[in-house]
Amino acid sequence: MCIQKDNNINILRDTRANGKDRDWKGKKKRSLLMAEHYGEAGLNKKAERMEQCADTLLFKKSAEKLKLFQAYFCKVRLCPMCNWRRSLKIAFHNKQIVEAANERENLKWIFLTLTVRNVEGSELKNTMDVMTKAWNNFSRYAAFKKSVKGYFRAMEVTKNREKESEWYATYHPHFHVLLAVKPSFFTKDYIKQAEWIAMWRKAMKLDYDPIVHVQRVKAKKESPDLNEIEQDVKRAVEEQNAILEVSKYPVKDSDVIVGNSVTTDNVETVLDLDNALAYKRLIAYGGLLKEIHKELNLDDAEDGDLIRVGEENADEIANGAIEVMAYWHVGLKNYVLK
Ligand SMILES: [Zn+2]
Repeated sequence: MCIQKDNNINILRDTRANGKDRDWKGKKKRSLLMAEHYGEAGLNKKAERMEQCADTLLFKKSAEKLKLFQAYFCKVRLCPMCNWRRSLKIAFHNKQIVEAANERENLKWIFLTLTVRNVEGSELKNTMDVMTKAWNNFSRYAAFKKSVKGYFRAMEVTKNREKESEWYATYHPHFHVLLAVKPSFFTKDYIKQAEWIAMWRKAMKLDYDPIVHVQRVKAKKESPDLNEIEQDVKRAVEEQNAILEVSKYPVKDSDVIVGNSVTTDNVETVLDLDNALAYKRLIAYGGLLKEIHKELNLDDAEDGDLIRVGEENADEIANGAIEVMAYWHVGLKNYVLK
């Protein structure tokens, strides 16, 4: 449960069922670096909140396993610590939702990526609003409604950092969508890629053909992106691992902050993205998946509780369990047990 550093200091070690450690320290370090950027950008209140994010962690220990039961999470949109918690929660929710959906109906799964041309930082917020509205029209088209039973949608924004590119320093907002379709989609109701493009172009009112990817979900055993996701969750949906690839919070701190130090480019990116993403819903469910989300009484992964993200069984957190407190040690740059 802990590593003895010297006679007096014990370092936190939170080991998962698969023997790997949860990377609290790494996430906290990235969070502090992000907070520095917020400070540099003049967003002082958010910087302060982020600095305190997950400063103290209160766990309950039973059978050598640690269960988080009290902590402060800042919930700032770009916080790496909070987004890690959000990702764990979304993965856990989607695992349950997909399982329930497959039990109820004979479904096939598709990934759809909808894009638009890159935009300047100043246009980003507006473009994202337009895309969200366009999605609402898109999902009401007859061809869509005929085959699609439900969806999970995540808005991701990446930045072009290739100095030679004509799109250098512009932003690329796009939707990653998981669609649950009827089996007839692959026979008589098939939507060709060209039709998806035409539908998205129409919904977005574009004067060009946008890039759209569509791909049938195929079983996948392992994915490097899934290292953060609990082993038991992984195992339970081995045949649906691919689905979990979109089941994470769509903000990657490595996309926001490049490298390990504060740079002008990073600060600019933080300003642009914080402004565009603040108060915006980046994930959404629709149709059958939304119904199941509601029926299972799953809370909001984006703004809800980030302490109980789902991997813990509430029953295991016995009232009498031993409490373990870990706090961030500024000097050691690690979590120390009290
Ligand atoms: Zn946070």
